[in-house]
Amino acid sequence: MEVYGLVGNPVGHSLSPALHEAAYDVLGLDARYVTFEPDPATIGDAIEGAAALGIAGLNVTTPFKRDVLEHVATDPLAGRIGAVNTIDFGTEPPGGYNTDASGAIRALDRHDVTLHGTDALVVGAGGAGRAIAIALDDAGADVRVANRTIAKAEDLAAALESGSGHGFDDLPELVPETELLVNATTVGLESDETPVAADLLHSDLVVMDAVYQPIETRLLQEAGAAGAETIDGAWMLLYQGVEAFEQWTGLEAPVEAMHEALRARL
Ligand code: NAP
Repeated sequence: MEVYGLVGNPVGHSLSPALHEAAYDVLGLDARYVTFEPDPATIGDAIEGAAALGIAGLNVTTPFKRDVLEHVATDPLAGRIGAVNTIDFGTEPPGGYNTDASGAIRALDRHDVTLHGTDALVVGAGGAGRAIAIALDDAGADVRVANRTIAKAEDLAAALESGSGHGFDDLPELVPETELLVNATTVGLESDETPVAADLLHSDLVVMDAVYQPIETRLLQEAGAAGAETIDGAWMLLYQGVEAFEQWTGLEAPVEAMHEALRARL
């Protein structure tokens, strides 16, 4: 039996076991996906121990996405982002990948969103914001970043081919010129808040939210009311899992079964 899992703290409410085990079931794989909450002080030992035990793959979430960098051979995209969310123990040393980035692009592809030459605005410059902005930049979008802490938006913009960094005060100028808006802040997570005022939203926008609890955030409700196309956070969650599954197994993921399992739990 192959063992996969998630390391984070906390991981009790994670949807990843259901997402991955749906794939094992439908493909008849002898595999399990389990969650681990290692002590932050011993995360390096946890990764080495996982390798020694023959664990096949691990997802990594808060607060360990940066900490594991020094314990894996980081692929170039994850290196530029500065965060790893997927470890593949099929190589020595284990490989570190960032499927939040590739998953966000696949979520947008699934909705036929054109990225090359598109004016994109990423709101947020934390882990998810970095992954999404760098992935969009690689896909040829013209990326602006707005963040509460302007210095972090500027740092991120400096890592992009295109792009500029802004504070939230610039949103009234930025949003009207934006074609693709992505929320990568925690604003709206289990709350009725939104990072972008409703009166800035317009019908030429595609709006994707990384937040998936609630599934229809206030931002998405107001974007829909403004006539924008909306893509909820479950799509990015689905495709980061699909990308991890495909990296670990080399198989094509049963996307629809994984999608169904995820929606059933949201
Ligand atoms: P993070 O690294 O902690 O970054 C948090 C971001 O939110 C920063 O940009 C922060 O701004 C901003 N922020 C926090 N409170 C704010 C407030 N009151 N007003 C304005 N901005 C605020 O977190 P993360 O890992 O990037 O995650 C961000 C969100 O994305 C979370 O909701 C997470 O669940 C979601 N996510 C979803 C997926 C998916 O697959 N759908 C994957 C990864 C993450 P400052 O820099 O100014 O603090």
